[in-house]
Amino acid sequence: MKKTIVIIGAGVTGSAIARYLSRYDADILVLEKGEDVCTGTSKANSAIVHAGFDAKPGTLMAKYNLEGSEMMEDLSKELDIPYDRCGSLVVCLTEDGIPGLEALLEKGRQNGVRELEIIGRERLKEMEPNIADEAVAALWAPTGAIICPFELTIALAENAAENGVEFRFNTEVLRIQKDYHGFFIETGEGTVHADAVVNASGVYSDIFHNQVSEEKIHITPRKGEYELLDHEASGYVRHTVFQLPGPYGKGVLVTPTVHDNVLVGPTALDIEDREGTNTTAGGLREVQTKATLAMKDVPFRKTITSFAGLRAHEDRHDFILGEPKDAPFFFDAAGIESPGLTSAPAIGKALSEQIAERLGLSKKAEWKAERQGIVKAGELTLEARNELIRQNPLYGRIICRCESISEGEIVDAIHRPLGAKSLDGVKRRVRAGMGRCQAGFCSPRVMEILSRELGIPLSEVTKAGGKSRIITGVLKGAAPDEACEGKEA
Ligand SMILES: Cc1cc2nc3c(=O)[nH]c(=O)nc-3n(C[C@H](O)[C@H](O)[C@H](O)COP(=O)(O)OP(=O)(O)OC[C@H]3O[C@@H](n4cnc5c(N)ncnc54)[C@H](O)[C@@H]3O)c2cc1C
Repeated sequence: MKKTIVIIGAGVTGSAIARYLSRYDADILVLEKGEDVCTGTSKANSAIVHAGFDAKPGTLMAKYNLEGSEMMEDLSKELDIPYDRCGSLVVCLTEDGIPGLEALLEKGRQNGVRELEIIGRERLKEMEPNIADEAVAALWAPTGAIICPFELTIALAENAAENGVEFRFNTEVLRIQKDYHGFFIETGEGTVHADAVVNASGVYSDIFHNQVSEEKIHITPRKGEYELLDHEASGYVRHTVFQLPGPYGKGVLVTPTVHDNVLVGPTALDIEDREGTNTTAGGLREVQTKATLAMKDVPFRKTITSFAGLRAHEDRHDFILGEPKDAPFFFDAAGIESPGLTSAPAIGKALSEQIAERLGLSKKAEWKAERQGIVKAGELTLEARNELIRQNPLYGRIICRCESISEGEIVDAIHRPLGAKSLDGVKRRVRAGMGRCQAGFCSPRVMEILSRELGIPLSEVTKAGGKSRIITGVLKGAAPDEACEGKEA
């Protein structure tokens, strides 16, 4: 009989494990409490593929950061997602800081990072014209890159689903109990039995680990706040610019994104609330103050939104991977804080090999490594776009004007494997609502498309699943759906 493996969590870690595990012959089930893939920390981070100079040599973080960074470009081709090796700079703002920069260079070399070098002020200024006048030198890491965290996570999960992995959303795991033949996993939707469990539940991963093991771990949610700047700020920064920690603290980064925005942040504040992803006036002030230490005239007037993510910081500050000694067949992917996004493919590959060996799984005869992304009509040549519109006129109807997203792309986002079911689901897949107006303009149109394509009343369409309905009342004398019919956006 086939072995059953349950993965808790459909963030980038759980999705990567699901994707690599789907190469093996087993029944794999992902249980996710959110309504979609990528609703936790994987949706709110700096989106950097770290080169790997920061982690302490010898740690799992250092190992999987480097391996993940080296896998990412090929993976982005297999999964048809954007990847840009823009390189990263760690800027030193005082002469006193140079030994710190040299120590970072040495740490990077010990970790096996290629092509690292320290550059002086002149070259730095050439590479990054808006660098602060105070900057004296920088560590240059050409292997640093940027990626889209939503597209990476969604693509990994879609590819896993195409290879037979089952995803159950809106399914919260409540408790795990070991028995002689595996695990009973109690969820809000009933109990599931599994031969092995993978714990990829992000900031909740200590809870499940501690239910099965006496070697206790402890996660603190560490909040990071950001500001995201409009496309109009594109070109302001060319590389990921970090600050060398100094007398002014750890600093924040300023980076381009793969979608031509500029991202500034994050802060770092330990909190108790595992769902505490609100931004604060103080946090955003700190982002602005610290960014201006390393970069001149940051165009903060172009800010279109702010957001916060929670790092799953474990007390020992390293990834916790594999079976605890006293809990065979329970596999942790816990404490996956930064560089977790970078490390995800390497963790997914290593952990799935470990699980396959322990369970005696054999590789499937056929496995599909490639996944076709959603066509980006706005990025096609005029001829190719016209041809696409001839084949399907929905690609000629622009729904999100800020990001130039057509109805054809939205319909594809809804109908592909693990398709979008909410406004946020559409937004993360095709960027409708990600632009300057932050969905103010296109939301009613996207709601109509969701309602039509999912066959649900307009009043049932949600922002992000659960109770997040957008229509809360009915106009006098009109049924909920009539109230919104015929509205032109
Ligand atoms: C501010 C910040 C900046 C960062 N920047 C970077 C960066 O630039 N580069 C980089 O490499 N890394 C970065 N990281 C780290 C990276 O984002 C994380 O390591 C990674 O996203 C963690 O993914 P995950 O899948 O482990 O967790 P998550 O994405 O949180 O996924 C866990 C999933 O488990 C689900 N879940 C939880 N409890 C249950 C339950 N009871 N039942 C069912 N499902 C459950 C959640 O809903 C969630 O979907 C950053 C993190 C933060 C916070």
